[in-house]
Amino acid sequence: MKYSNFFLPTVKDAPSDAEIISHQLMIRAGMIKQSSAGIYSWLPLGLIVLKKIEQIVREEQNNAGAIELLMPTIQSSDLWIKSGRYDDYGKEMLRITDRSGREMLYGPTNEELITDIFKSHINSYKDLPKNLYHIQWKFRDEVRPRFGVMRGREFLMKDNYSFDIDENSAKNSYDNMFKAYIKTFIRMGLTPISLRAETGPIGGSLSHEFQILAKTGESTLYYDKKLETLNMNTIDPNELQSFYAAVDDQHDEKNCPISKDNLKISKGIEVGHIFYFGTKYSEKLNALVQDKKGKNIPVHMGSYGIGISRLVGALIEAYHDEKGIKWPLEVAPFKLSIINLMPEDQDCDTKSMEYYEYFMKNNIEVILDDRNCSIGKKLSDNELIGIPFQIIIGKRDLKDGLVEFKNRQTNIVEKIPIDNLINFINTILTK
Ligand code: ATP
Ligand code: MG
Repeated sequence: MKYSNFFLPTVKDAPSDAEIISHQLMIRAGMIKQSSAGIYSWLPLGLIVLKKIEQIVREEQNNAGAIELLMPTIQSSDLWIKSGRYDDYGKEMLRITDRSGREMLYGPTNEELITDIFKSHINSYKDLPKNLYHIQWKFRDEVRPRFGVMRGREFLMKDNYSFDIDENSAKNSYDNMFKAYIKTFIRMGLTPISLRAETGPIGGSLSHEFQILAKTGESTLYYDKKLETLNMNTIDPNELQSFYAAVDDQHDEKNCPISKDNLKISKGIEVGHIFYFGTKYSEKLNALVQDKKGKNIPVHMGSYGIGISRLVGALIEAYHDEKGIKWPLEVAPFKLSIINLMPEDQDCDTKSMEYYEYFMKNNIEVILDDRNCSIGKKLSDNELIGIPFQIIIGKRDLKDGLVEFKNRQTNIVEKIPIDNLINFINTILTK
């Protein structure tokens, strides 16, 4: 991508209602534009990151055996009346009347709809377990939309639903997703803390939230210090679930099983939430399956959500400095940025194009900053948008046969001989 062809409207100052750093940086880096309270357009740079996160989530769902489908954003009220949630959901649900006077709604979640799809096609234990997911926009008319995309009204969620013949098998599905969630967040460069949580309007008895530690988080987390030192890549979900970890409304100081010295209290951002709720929906919506003895019983269900659009903000909360964003490589909108400090200079131009064409040809995501603007603006915009590796091409260095390489994670700058640069970049990208 050439910056001059792209649409990357960086702005100097964030609006005053952007209270937290990720919201400020997303606006300043030209990633989003608010269209009304809690509703955003995703500008090209923001959309690239959103899609990357979506793709990681999708791959880990597929690896865990979940099957993707796509349900609509607009649902009819019928199923919600049957499940009893049409009234329970209250004002958070956006209700719409169509031209024939039918009551419709913009889905805040999909338990009802998926249960209806399931029951239309599956009626035997032989077809279980099943795990279906989709990645779709949700709408919740939040009382206080804020923090940009972190608490929006319209937001992108991956939600999936597991179907099992009994509680034992359902717990396996739950643990399988638990593991998939840990893997998903680690792949994005995040360290998740999993905590026992309240089930809220979704219902049920077993539930965990996945939280990312951040000073600006809205949840207060109480957990065993040891959780911060575990190897999340290898630990068994049951072992992980055995450590004490609870969100505010689940924590009871008097009955806390671990000592004050071992208890850590931190702020966190909820990025995922999983539930096992048994037969709550299958009973109400009559989703029955035949068991081995030929008896029709309600199917056992769980539901699992990841806030994909919230993760964009959460990642920035975790990775930034005073100059801007510092994307982890896996979710970075581009891996490389080639910054041509002097586009009017023939040598700078030729060298930049040579590198650019090489990386384009080799499918390495690269942006070439070929704009005719001041060197200061160029460098500060690049700090702001936070591309992990930056190649800075200037006239003086080129005369000495050198280019600058900057690692945005460490902010360390080094000079690299022009002929070594491609090898150097290939080596760090494969590390
Ligand atoms: P919260 O407690 O933050 O309001 P929730 O518990 O109501 O979230 P869930 O129903 O568990 O949300 O939804 C699954 C995931 O969707 C959450 O873990 C979160 O990452 C994301 N999410 C929920 N509400 C929003 C929102 N208003 N804006 C952006 N993402 C959201
Ligand atoms: Mg939740």
